[in-house]
Amino acid sequence: MINEDEVEWALRLWNSLIVGDANDPINTGGTWELDGVGKYVRTALKELTLTEIHLDRHTSNESGRSLFDEHDFIATLAREIGWVVKTEVRKAFSHDGEFTIPQDRIGDVMICSNKCGTIARVEPLDQGVIYYKLDDGLCPICGEVGFDNKDWRDIHVVIDSRGALLKKQEEE
Ligand SMILES: [Zn+2]
Repeated sequence: MINEDEVEWALRLWNSLIVGDANDPINTGGTWELDGVGKYVRTALKELTLTEIHLDRHTSNESGRSLFDEHDFIATLAREIGWVVKTEVRKAFSHDGEFTIPQDRIGDVMICSNKCGTIARVEPLDQGVIYYKLDDGLCPICGEVGFDNKDWRDIHVVIDSRGALLKKQEEE
């Protein structure tokens, strides 16, 4: 899957980044921003750390994606050439700007009051996860006002639709 051109491309790009100072590698290392994925910092001689996730394209433009758009691919490529890719996500951006996850809410769940079976859960920031903002309390699965609760407005949640799918199958 990984060819020589890709290896060469990665080595040239990553070696051009400044190596972070051991005392504070994340704030001193050279940064590389990968459109639609996030921001990497060179935190050691052969180490990159993902510090921001950018979700703007995860939700919209799926067709224009290439292998280079995927964090998993970057991690595999790095392993292949003896580099390490770490994850220490501190910031996240979606198409409407930066968002954070309130630490004291992690693990909280809410069930759609329209009883479609959808569960919203507050999860920590991580790559590869799709976060959804509960605008106007609308349930993204059934489309009804199922999350109309002031504590849940404007929070980015992970939507678990398995229950809703099971219910749908039952009805058919
Ligand atoms: Zn619902």
